[in-house]
Amino acid sequence: MKIAMVGTGYVGLTTGTCLAELGNDVLCIDIDEKKIENLRKGILPIYEPGLKELVEKNSREERLRFTTDIKSAIEFAEVIFIAVGTPPGKNEEADLSAVKDVAKNIGKYMNEYKVIVTKSTVPVGTADSIKEIIRQTHKSSIEFSVCSNPEFLREGEAIYDFMNPDRIVVGVEDEKAKKAMETIYRGLVRADKQVLFTDIKSSELIKYASNAMLATRISFMNELSLLCDKVGGNVKLVAKGMGLDSRIGPRFLQAGAGWGGSCFPKDVKALYKTMEANNLDGKILKAVVDVNDSQRQVIISKIKKLIPNPNGKKIAVWGLSFKPKTDDMREAPSITIIEAIQKEGALIRAFDPVAVENAKKIFKDVEYCRTPYETVEGCSCLVIMTEWNEFRELDIQRIKSLMAEPNIVDARNVYEPEYIKKFGFRYIGVGR
Ligand code: NAD
Repeated sequence: MKIAMVGTGYVGLTTGTCLAELGNDVLCIDIDEKKIENLRKGILPIYEPGLKELVEKNSREERLRFTTDIKSAIEFAEVIFIAVGTPPGKNEEADLSAVKDVAKNIGKYMNEYKVIVTKSTVPVGTADSIKEIIRQTHKSSIEFSVCSNPEFLREGEAIYDFMNPDRIVVGVEDEKAKKAMETIYRGLVRADKQVLFTDIKSSELIKYASNAMLATRISFMNELSLLCDKVGGNVKLVAKGMGLDSRIGPRFLQAGAGWGGSCFPKDVKALYKTMEANNLDGKILKAVVDVNDSQRQVIISKIKKLIPNPNGKKIAVWGLSFKPKTDDMREAPSITIIEAIQKEGALIRAFDPVAVENAKKIFKDVEYCRTPYETVEGCSCLVIMTEWNEFRELDIQRIKSLMAEPNIVDARNVYEPEYIKKFGFRYIGVGR
């Protein structure tokens, strides 16, 4: 099918590229001219494993193109995906201004029947607003359909997730749009993995509810880790024991530094705001956010326990991105923690395999290092902020010999405490 992907960010670029890989003719549009110019040269705006190769292949085979010309893109496409950002607004509600701009452009330039799909995460009722805007902007009476197709990909695993989805959710209200969406996703349907068609409002809610549930599980385990710290349990074993229950399952039960990233923080708050706008009190959602905020303070107090006065001391930070396999720094817990210890006079030396360029836009006065070993040189404490695999099997003896004082705060429970303590480290994990 001929597809326009409006918004060529994380989601738009990955989804557009994967839809091209399935054989569709995809035109990616963005208002960011530099981004589009770079993409035409094969320079990607994000780090995502395997994406560069797929962009190159599909561009070469002429199924994937990039433009800033929204008019020709809308005229070209049978199906228009809206994948622009929906960042938090002034009061933490989802800011829909980019989505509304796109809807206005669709209304302005629509030349024949179109299926318009929201891929962006948008509050329940947004499809209705999009319809209304298109009707108001559009001068003639061309027919169009609106559907909701939320995105569930995980940064770092985005291509695998697209090609092997747990589920594809599509909210539709007419047969014509349903047929178009069935055609687009035909290549991904398996006997056990069908497209789940729902009404549009349920589909819009499924996305927020899923992210809020995952965030809830993590906050729950972080709260439990506080009790483990007090009474002596091991939160990793508690999670393992819980996860073996098939009703619970093992995933998203890791205690740590709290959740961050481009989605959970804004989506949990936006869902809370939607409840508030409907005169409902999202008590659970509020607690989930509160626990997450305080978990960052918990990590800071663990650092202070080992280094009561960080003034003038060098502190090493391994991992800056909000999770491994991504360079995304949005709402990364490392930001709160580094800024807090810098305020107390600590000198930060940091390493991240891919996020340094993005980190440089956020932090002042951080010394970036080339390797994990170089980072710890002369440091009084090592803080592990992101659980990159490459931190798991390093030479602990060498690390100790390079440090000024043998202190580790393992905010992601990467290491086994007993093993690390054998080398003479003072080690603090989370809930262990
Ligand atoms: P992003 O900021 O990486 O990309 C958004 C892109 O839209 C930018 O390139 C921006 O220049 C472009 N844009 C803004 N206004 C535009 C306009 N009027 N016309 C054309 N382009 C415009 O954002 P993202 O991470 O890709 O997220 C997009 C949406 O997908 C959000 O609603 C987000 O919540 C949702 N989502 C994100 C993820 C994720 O892991 N990043 C996962 C699932 C869903």
